[in-house]
Amino acid sequence: MKATTIRQVLIEPLNIERTEPFIIAIGTKHRIENVVLTLVLENGVEGYGEAAPLEPINGENQATVLATLNSCRDFLLGQDVTQFMAIARQLKQVFWAQATARCAIEMALLDALAKSLDIPLYQFWGGAEHELETDCTISLVPAETARRQAEQLAQAGYRVLKVKIGKNVKQDIERVLAVNEGAPSCQITLDANQGYTPDQAVYCIRELERLGIRPALLEQPVTRHDWMGMRFVREHVSPPVAADETVFTGDDAIQVVRTGCADVINIKIMKSGIIEALDIAAIARRAHLGLMIGCMLESVLAMSASVHLAAGLGGFRFIDLDPHPPTASEPFTGGPRFVEPVYTLQDDAGLGVFRKA
Ligand code: MN
Repeated sequence: MKATTIRQVLIEPLNIERTEPFIIAIGTKHRIENVVLTLVLENGVEGYGEAAPLEPINGENQATVLATLNSCRDFLLGQDVTQFMAIARQLKQVFWAQATARCAIEMALLDALAKSLDIPLYQFWGGAEHELETDCTISLVPAETARRQAEQLAQAGYRVLKVKIGKNVKQDIERVLAVNEGAPSCQITLDANQGYTPDQAVYCIRELERLGIRPALLEQPVTRHDWMGMRFVREHVSPPVAADETVFTGDDAIQVVRTGCADVINIKIMKSGIIEALDIAAIARRAHLGLMIGCMLESVLAMSASVHLAAGLGGFRFIDLDPHPPTASEPFTGGPRFVEPVYTLQDDAGLGVFRKA
């Protein structure tokens, strides 16, 4: 039996109450309801993976992820993590629609492998960078709240604020103006989360520019399959347009390139899994599209995986990995050191994340 063979598979729900609800155009989340996968190898190494499903985005939730992972348990037992690519491809053929569950498996395989090799995961992926500066997100809150949050975030050191829009153009513009007033030195990026029609998106951006605000990015202005609508927006506004919900797979990334509907692709490991995220990054890079990395509602575990990925590959222009405030119910600690707004990669092997004692 090889030292890197999986001898135990542990699957557990991960529930974390949030101090502040997270509101975007498609719904509100009050708690994190994720799943943790632990792979124990013959050499005693534990590899950790996390799935952070968000139903309206990827059609998965905690119950479906638990079911998917449980049905993978027997397949994973006895596998050798040095063959992570073969394992991931086989699972993709069967569970092609469960990218979030597969993400947890790929994360745990890679964490276990890198730990067995005794190198940090970002170095396994290339070690291109060792620091990442993230933005911080202001959700669909009233303008006055947004102004206060912007002030606090600028004071905390953030230089890029991502403002959620896409529900009501008038209120959206008020919110963005308030953020700009609260944090005049911060760059503003916008995320409509598919909430606008093409016309509304163009109107919103033009109106903001008329009022003296030039956003650094407009993310997912229109519904995910409206490639031509997104191209229309891109052709009629000056900020770069990012495709987020439009891109879950490498095929989607190719479609972005073919249709010319976006300047930037937002990669999230919970949309594509980790292995496919590597494909998407390669397609974007070769097509001279900008790279962005984003997140769902992850604990420090999965967040660390995204930090390692972006730092390891390098060249990500937009970093949207703002962590939620840590709470006592968070079971993991460690990972890249985070001092607002910068992540610094550490020397610990794998993800460098540890289970709290
Ligand atoms: Mn987004």
